[in-house]
Amino acid sequence: MRRMRVTRKEQDHLSRWTIKDSVELYGVDRWSDGIFSINADGHVCLSSYRGAAAVDLKSLADEIRLRGLTPPVLIHFTDILRRRMDMLVDAFAAATRECNYRGAHLGVYPIKVNQHRHVLEDMVALGRRHNFGLECGSKPELLLATALNDNPNAITVCNGFKDRDYVETALAAQTFGGRVFLVIEKLSELPLILDVSRQMGVEPLIGIRMKLSSRGRGMWESSGGDRSKFGLRTDEMLEAVRILKRARRLGTLQLLHWHIGSQISDIQAIKDALKEATALFKEVVRLGAPVRYVDTGGGLAVDYDGSHTNFASSANYTLGEYASDVVNAFATVCNETGIDHPTIITEAGRALVAHHSVLVVEAISSGGVCSPGSLPSIPKGASEVLKRMRDILNDFAEKRFQETFHDALEARRDALMLFNLGHLSLPHRAIVEHYFWAICRRIYGYIQSLEYVPEDLIGLEKLLATTYYCNFSLFQSLPDHWAVKQLFPIMPLHRLEEKPTVEGILADITCDSDGVITQFVDLRDVKNTLPLHPLRAGDPYYLGIFLVGAYQEILGDLHNLFGDTNVVRVSAQDDGYVIDRTVEGETIAHVLEYVQFDQRHVVDLLRRRIEDALKRGDLKLEESAPLLRKITQTFDDYTYYRATSPRRKPRTG
Ligand code: PLP
Repeated sequence: MRRMRVTRKEQDHLSRWTIKDSVELYGVDRWSDGIFSINADGHVCLSSYRGAAAVDLKSLADEIRLRGLTPPVLIHFTDILRRRMDMLVDAFAAATRECNYRGAHLGVYPIKVNQHRHVLEDMVALGRRHNFGLECGSKPELLLATALNDNPNAITVCNGFKDRDYVETALAAQTFGGRVFLVIEKLSELPLILDVSRQMGVEPLIGIRMKLSSRGRGMWESSGGDRSKFGLRTDEMLEAVRILKRARRLGTLQLLHWHIGSQISDIQAIKDALKEATALFKEVVRLGAPVRYVDTGGGLAVDYDGSHTNFASSANYTLGEYASDVVNAFATVCNETGIDHPTIITEAGRALVAHHSVLVVEAISSGGVCSPGSLPSIPKGASEVLKRMRDILNDFAEKRFQETFHDALEARRDALMLFNLGHLSLPHRAIVEHYFWAICRRIYGYIQSLEYVPEDLIGLEKLLATTYYCNFSLFQSLPDHWAVKQLFPIMPLHRLEEKPTVEGILADITCDSDGVITQFVDLRDVKNTLPLHPLRAGDPYYLGIFLVGAYQEILGDLHNLFGDTNVVRVSAQDDGYVIDRTVEGETIAHVLEYVQFDQRHVVDLLRRRIEDALKRGDLKLEESAPLLRKITQTFDDYTYYRATSPRRKPRTG
């Protein structure tokens, strides 16, 4: 076997790369909040926590594959849910102590953020210690909350628009035990609640969602502000109090709620909302309502890019600062006015569950513009345009890099014209392309050191990047990246002791040109490419897409009929980990059903096509049955790409 010669210089260079360099390059410490790290093997791992061992994600991915579940696979880590819940609860406990706050903190988990059964069941089980409750925003979510929330000390918060059925179910749930708050989103809901409660003989617990003028900032800021779709204006709040007084039911108004949007990246927006909310709270209490609960809604942001800034995919504050601001705001207003300290409810969703899911995808191939390497020689008698291209490269001068780029573009255009007119052969056109990209690479190498890059060269990095084709669907697994350019940290799960030498972008396997990731987290702003390792034949190359536990699973769609991915739930133990639940991804038969093609109908259509082919003589009778069997077997297949290349046995131990 011929071995590639590695020069001494290259060897020095490669051996100098350390795991610390990878930690820095991919920003692991910045975005993972201590949850993930890189181990001595150069693999990403879930770091150990309160007696549970660290989990090596590469070994886990190999193990999952051996169980027949191929990537893309979504891994849910129960321990991360526990950590995040502990962090939230601890932050409020510390803030309460600091401010001598006499009210309690109660968390509720908004079901909409991730409704999957195991996530909800985990939330309820893990939340029992902290009396964590559930928040629902629709009738199906209310049914789930009613069925699952069996802790009498945990509350249920009912948001969203309500009809009679919704109100009846919520009041019925209250009779099972526990406190169920009906939060009014529209004034018309109040008479309905009073009417149903009278009929059912159940005293309601009423909350009001306040429409604050303060707006969130960022991608979801329209959830707050004067024109927001939700909540009661100040005049409507006064009217609600009047209605309740008239009905002698003011005692039922016990909760005030606000929510200015999700992923509020700037603490100033939270502080502004708190100022307005505390002022409204004081006024409503002054009107005689016994408000004992204040509900801060969601919005607690996740620092996806680890930059700690008010950039949309980041957060310029910590959980501790958030808790301290909330508690301090209510402590101050209550201490000034003598109002009893209310219980503070938080509806943080994203901040609780985003970290707990990692999507593991596999790069199945890579490609890009003409690869670097030795340049072809210019054949004798070749067109002048080939020589011109070679001369542009040979005469490259840093001082004239922009001029060089324009000359190369012009020569390439001329070559294309000659080719279209039949005056340039395909091999000669290919030579022109080789030189053109070599020139671009030289220019790119130079401009990287510049502080200012001229506008027309800014896109060069993306053009030169290698595309890594990955086995997943952006639309199914990362809908927020496609829809609102939300960033997620992405990095290889292994080979992190090795310097990544390729600048890549990621393409999914949908047939949609939007199914690409060309923006990556960076400490400053956004990176256009991701440093990756060259693919090695026969070796899987796994990438982890992190912090995908909030909203992505449920918002994902069936573009190109790529269905739900395989899901496994992993619990770390003191001596390793267990895969305690696996959910196989959707099959082709499954996704076809979503679009009303039932399997029998499709098989029927196939049979008809076979009959026609037999009639025409295009197919022999003895061929028809095996052919149909082969095709119909695919109904049970995973919708994603099935790698057929031989694989090396994964290393164990
Ligand atoms: N509460 C309400 C009323 C919401 O609408 C949402 C989501 O937008 C949440 C809580 C959860 O928000 P987040 O995930 O930003 O914490």
